Amino acid sequence: MTEKFQDHQIRDILKINYKYTMGGQSKFFIEVMKNKKLFGTKCTKCGKTWMPPRINCSDCYEPADWVELNQAGTINVSTIVWYTTSAFIKAVPYGIGFIKLDGAETSLLQGIFSENLVPSKIKKGKRVKAVFNKEREGKMTDFFFVPEDEYENWISKPEYEGGV
Ligand SMILES: [Zn+2]
Repeated sequence: MTEKFQDHQIRDILKINYKYTMGGQSKFFIEVMKNKKLFGTKCTKCGKTWMPPRINCSDCYEPADWVELNQAGTINVSTIVWYTTSAFIKAVPYGIGFIKLDGAETSLLQGIFSENLVPSKIKKGKRVKAVFNKEREGKMTDFFFVPEDEYENWISKPEYEGGV
């Protein structure tokens, strides 16, 4: 009689230090980190304004120029997050949504925080505004959106500030 295979497993942590580049989209992250500005790109041929920025227009493949966008926008679609990775677990529950910034023709997927998070606060058509962490690293998590009527409360908290 053959013995049944028994798999021995040990839970461990794998830690890897590495660098990665944002490539042609680096300006977006540098402007968020250093200047609290949100930059999209505008196609040099058809004029479409992309947010998140595209280095080349995804419609006509021509180069796009950097353009600063308004930090307020409208929610196109959203949901409330209850399950997430360890990086965001402390923020649960929080909203995420596709937000069309004023002046952009495409939408950015980003976190939407609220002091009173209920679906009606972050539904389609609601106006939101960007809030920045005071300590920024040049990452998407350097900023998030809040309902416009909560903006002043959020930027008065010690860890956050408004954009430029
Ligand atoms: Zn184009």
